[in-house]
Amino acid sequence: MRTLILSDIHANLTALQAVLADAAPFDRVFCLGDVVGYGPDPNACIEEMMALPELDCIKGNHDAAILGEIDIRAFRDEARFSLEWLATQIRPENYHWLQNLPERIEIEDFTLAHGSPRDPLWEYVMDVRIARENMAAFETSTCLVGHTHIPSVFKMEGEDGSTYLYLIGPDQPFSLDVKSIINPGSVGQPRDRNPLAAYLVYDDQEELPWTYHRVPYDVEAVQRRILKAGLPLRHAARLSEGW
Ligand code: ZN
Repeated sequence: MRTLILSDIHANLTALQAVLADAAPFDRVFCLGDVVGYGPDPNACIEEMMALPELDCIKGNHDAAILGEIDIRAFRDEARFSLEWLATQIRPENYHWLQNLPERIEIEDFTLAHGSPRDPLWEYVMDVRIARENMAAFETSTCLVGHTHIPSVFKMEGEDGSTYLYLIGPDQPFSLDVKSIINPGSVGQPRDRNPLAAYLVYDDQEELPWTYHRVPYDVEAVQRRILKAGLPLRHAARLSEGW
């Protein structure tokens, strides 16, 4: 079975469609949250996800904010502005779909959480200290997280729980033979100084089952829609910087 793992689509339909086309064929999709926020295409992205035949999707902090589940004052000005815009755009059936997303799920030997397993909506797994503290917060071998928008692998390798960070480039298959936290990067707003849309594939038929991928998309078309919608210029500019 070939599983497509994606996160932080952030209402960027052009990037999402490029990822789905590039990753095909796949048998199922894990989505790690933040389908909306920042970008110009919230309804279209939700509808694209809803149409996927086998989808497990969890809620991100932007998804929770639009639902009123967390206070939007916790967001910085520009992110808050786009959340306020989003509230005027979201269609009722799509709002309902977001409402029904769980914050954390376990599927087979995977735990899915947007931020971290112990604090699914807010915590960023950015460094080995936080990754190590989170290793005790899930029971499966692998935890899949998003939220940082940076493709990263944290492996607990030492008998003493020592945890190491690996940054693995695209198209280099690898295995995870120890307890790990892995982040696919962001589809719609990469922040590792690489503007290409990021995703991860897990293929259980392969000896080295994990592979990162990056795919180009029409960034300028998305930037034009961001500006046309009156969303912050910064949200458009950062897409070509990948930051
Ligand atoms: Zn995000």
